[in-house]
Amino acid sequence: MRLASLVPDELPVEIWDEDVAPIPYDAITKNTVMGITSKTLSIDRAREIAARARQRGARVVVGGAHATLAPEEVSSWADITAVGEGYFTWRKILDDLAHDRAEKMYTDESWANLAGIARLTDRVLNMVNEKRDYWTPYLEITRGCPRNCSFCTAIRVSGRVMRFRPIDEVVEEIERRDIKRFFLTDDNFGLNFRLDPEYITNLFYALRKLPLNGWTNQAEMMVGDFPDLIQLGKEAHIDKFFIGFESVNVGNKRDLGGKSKGNLQEYKRVIKTIQSFGVGVVGLFVFGLEADTPDVFQNTWNFVKESGLDNVSFTIMTPYPGTPAREQYLREGRLFTDVPWSKYDTTHVTFEPANMTADQLRAGYDWICRKAYSLPSIATRGVRTLRRHPVRDARRKLFSSFSTDFGYRRTYSYRYG
Ligand code: SF4
Repeated sequence: MRLASLVPDELPVEIWDEDVAPIPYDAITKNTVMGITSKTLSIDRAREIAARARQRGARVVVGGAHATLAPEEVSSWADITAVGEGYFTWRKILDDLAHDRAEKMYTDESWANLAGIARLTDRVLNMVNEKRDYWTPYLEITRGCPRNCSFCTAIRVSGRVMRFRPIDEVVEEIERRDIKRFFLTDDNFGLNFRLDPEYITNLFYALRKLPLNGWTNQAEMMVGDFPDLIQLGKEAHIDKFFIGFESVNVGNKRDLGGKSKGNLQEYKRVIKTIQSFGVGVVGLFVFGLEADTPDVFQNTWNFVKESGLDNVSFTIMTPYPGTPAREQYLREGRLFTDVPWSKYDTTHVTFEPANMTADQLRAGYDWICRKAYSLPSIATRGVRTLRRHPVRDARRKLFSSFSTDFGYRRTYSYRYG
């Protein structure tokens, strides 16, 4: 939506999302410029779409996370590869194409100041039906993360230095999009509780006034040290923090950029603190980190049951391009080089783990997903979450109390056969 908003007014623009409707290939002509944004998981599909569009004479520009992480690979099949965020290059690409001087690769050399950049236009908002077509609308308020966890691409895709959108622009956008709930896509929103508590305070004061049903964000356990901000966040309609505990295994702390250390008492204290304000906690865990042995699954499940977490997300360690983990596995000959990108969905094993076999990782992951996403498990957690809200809010909170777990159940459903 932002890139479409950057297209000059005199050019017609459409947004095609094949999760919403089939791609209308018949509409493509030699005058079409197709811009495809793709993450690693969908890049093989992007390549297929690009090939069909090029057959009809379109010129295809590919950008997004994967093009940023692996530009040479994308460049081998795209007409133009856009590396980085595209704020500076997208318009230039369109202009160069119009004047027949386009280059093969464009790189956004600097991280954009998020103030005023790529304001969503009414033209674009009118062509996207967020409420009908999307599970939850997405919103972004801050961007970046300095942690550099071994498996994470954020530092390369979003930058090491945290950037902030002006609060009045955030409020204006929420109102103009008329959204009542949203998932905040910020890589590590919670880190800002420490980095810039004044910004967060002012943001919460502003969001408090809006008629929101609730919103969720991604954070790290450090937010538990800021009870005043959690209280303000609750007033600003925060429903849940998604917290990357990542591992219950103390031996993995080096992989986690200093944010989680496997101290389970500390994990429980943070969960309790946040929940005491009526805010939920979704625990995120990764399996297959370097110190993990087969007992990590049972240990994690024990922790999940004791911790009172509202929802859980389990993923298999996945070495995306450009991450320290991938470099290490390559160096050590442990990367399964024949796995297609379409299996980089964090539910498939793509490398040889250090302290268990690939089969053990696969079987252990299956086991814990079956436990966590069984209907009784989801019901237990959902009802517990619902009970934390006053009875008068029950109807409004029904969706959010169960939706996260059901979303994960749907994601992993292919594993249930
Ligand atoms: S803290 Fe989160 S966003 Fe930051 S590097 Fe680690 S996993 Fe990525």
